[in-house]
Parts: sequence; C-alpha cells; structure tokens
Amino acid sequence: MHSNISIFVPHVGCPHKCAFCDQNAITGKEKLPHKEDVEKVCLQALDRVDDITDTEIAFFGGSFTAIPRGYMLELLTAAHKYVGEGRFKGIRISTRPDCIDEEILDILKEYGVTSIELGAQSMSDEVLTANERGHSAEDVRQASRLIREYGFELGLQMMIGLYKSGHQQEDETFDEIMRIHPDTVRIYPVVILNNTRLAELLASGEYKPMSFDEVLMLSARALGAFTEAGIRVIKCGLHASEVVEQDMVGGFYHPAFRELCEGLLYRQRMETELDKAEKDGRLSENKELVFAVKKGCMSKAVGQKRVNIEYFKKTGLRVKIVERANIGLYEVRLLDDVEAAHSCSIYNMKQIKRSKVCGCFYCGKIFAPDEVSGWINEGCGTALCPYCGIDSVIGDASGYPITEGFMRKMHERWF
Ligand code: SF4
Ligand SMILES: [Zn+2]
Repeated sequence: MHSNISIFVPHVGCPHKCAFCDQNAITGKEKLPHKEDVEKVCLQALDRVDDITDTEIAFFGGSFTAIPRGYMLELLTAAHKYVGEGRFKGIRISTRPDCIDEEILDILKEYGVTSIELGAQSMSDEVLTANERGHSAEDVRQASRLIREYGFELGLQMMIGLYKSGHQQEDETFDEIMRIHPDTVRIYPVVILNNTRLAELLASGEYKPMSFDEVLMLSARALGAFTEAGIRVIKCGLHASEVVEQDMVGGFYHPAFRELCEGLLYRQRMETELDKAEKDGRLSENKELVFAVKKGCMSKAVGQKRVNIEYFKKTGLRVKIVERANIGLYEVRLLDDVEAAHSCSIYNMKQIKRSKVCGCFYCGKIFAPDEVSGWINEGCGTALCPYCGIDSVIGDASGYPITEGFMRKMHERWF
C-alpha cells in the first residue's frame, strides 16, 4: 500500500499573504528541517516501512519551490540519496501554481521528484482575488500542463466555501478540475483561523460562509465524482491538529469529515437507485430493501451512528446493506428479491425460528422450521437443509415468498 514519509517545511519567506493563511502561527511554531533531519527520517523509515518501493518522501507544508533556492537544494540533495532502485519510489512536493516553470521542473526532475501538488484552491478568478491568492486560474491550468508534459504525477488541492464563493464558483472549480483530470486531489473545506484576513471579514459580517450542510454536500459530490473519474482523493477535510483546534474561529471542520461525506454519498446513491427502481417498476414487494456495496464499505454506507438506516426508517423503509464483490467504491446496487433473499440464508437462526415455513433453494424442498437438521457458524447459526444438507435455507420470516417457484428462481441465480 502506498505511503508517505512526511517532512514538514514551514512557509519560509512566502511572498504572499492569502486571506486564509496564518503564516505566523505556522512558522512560529515549527522548526525548519535541515539535511540531517531528512536523512534521519529516511533512515528510520527504511526499517519501519513495509514496501519502500511504494513509499515517497513528501515535503509538505506549503510552497516548496518558493523557499530559498539553496535551502530547497539542500533538502532535495539529502532526499535524493534515498530514491531509486531498491530505495524509496520518489519525492512529493507541494507548491503554488505560480511557482512552477521549466527551470524549476528541470531541477525537480534531476533530484528525483515524482509528484507535484498545486494549491489551486479555486478556479474562479473572482474568488482567487477575493482571497488574495496572488495567482489566477490560468496559472493553475498552465502549471498543470507543464507538470504533465514533464511526466510528473499531478495533484491539485481545492478549498470549498472560500470568501465570495457561491455555488456557481464551486461548480466552476469542480468542472475545471475534472477537465484537468489530475492524478490526485485534496479537498479542504475552509477553516477560518485567527489572525487571518478571513477572520476579520467574518467578524465584520462581510464574509458570510455557506452552511455546513452545503459544504458537506459539495465535498461529497466532489469526492464521488472524482473517484468515479479515476482521480484519487487523498484527503477530504483537515486533519485534527493543534493549530486548527486552538486557532479556529469559523469555517468547516469535523474530525471525521471524510466519513460524513462518504455516508452522505452512499445515502444519495441509495436514493437514486430507489428512484430508478420505482420508475422501472422494479421495487421489491418485500418491506426490506437490500443494497449491495463494495466489500469493506458496509460501515461507510450505514453512516455514522447508523444515520442512513435511520433516515430511511423515518420514511417507512427498512434498509439492509450487504457487501458484494465486483462493486466499485461508492457504488450502490439495489438487489432484486432473488438476489437479496440470498443474504437471508446466512446467520439465520433467529429468522428460521420465527418462521412458519422454510424452503431450500438448492433442492427445492419446502418444510417446517423444526425439521432443520443442523447448524453451522456457531453462535449466530446458519441453517442446513434436512433433505440435502446444504446451507441454502430461508424462512418466511425473511419476508420472501417460500414457494417452489421462488426457490427455483433462486436456484437458477445461485447455482
Ligand atoms: S501561498 Fe501558502 S504559505 Fe503563502 S500565504 Fe498563501 S497559503 Fe500561506
Ligand atoms: Zn435442500
């Protein structure tokens, strides 16, 4: 699995003062790393990391290519020694779009840099100006083009909910990033820190941020669409940190922001599936709707504190989520009865005991629940058919019809 060795480089001498950036808070608290620090971190990681060939040395923290040239080369020289055959995969850096040109890209190539992330933040010039970014959307396009031409992996960072950014500007940013199609994206809902221009604008009432739900909705849309388009979303929401917790005066922060987005995304997709099924007359007769999601994604789909299940319950729908192979991340499939009923043949002891009649979809026999010959999966119990011994038994308490016809259809689907 891909991993990074992170080295934080504070914003030394950044010539800008973006409206959301509190350089003093960051530069004041962090010590500048030097070549010895880079070597130490790399040596430690060599012992610790499982797959060094899928690990990058990542210089995080701001505008790497805008730091003093001598200092940048010192860090790159130290890191470069650990990159290549049998060592780490490469070096990742992040920088401003207007701090990229051919000369800098030549240097980065020479020193083994493999991935470049640009702080795009918005693709609306109006928003970039209002937030005093000091670069334009065209700078992002140009820099992205150059980075690609040089063969680097391209990453873009975007901020949602900036000053003067409404739905139209958010759409513009989303559409443009889709068009550029970077390899990776970081989605950051705006966090308003003390001692920033945004904090002043917020205090004066000039900046009226969107609601948390709007930002959540926009972030979820971006997360879903980028993932579907094959763009890896490597961050969604800020990590909990001292700076955020002490200095935040407004904006959008939640320690599990990505999980909130994922839950919302799954819920929206379940609703879309339901609408489609209703239109096509495919809605199950069973009161319980069964949605299948990718293996390992059950808890994302259920949502934090089972919020999605409760949401549907309020509308009178019982929803069950099962995991299936061959389903993509954030993809949802509403199962038809024949497919959904299969999940009732596993760990079904309680259901069988509540049933009046049972059926086996392997041999097709219909029988009384007390005829079940045995159980596997101790504890929760999965019933075995008394006639063929196969674990293909469901009872009428599942809500599905226990008829020869239905058992036959299930047999055709599953065997
Ligand atoms: S470019 Fe980066 S470091 Fe400089 S002010 Fe803006 S956000 Fe802060
Ligand atoms: Zn049987």
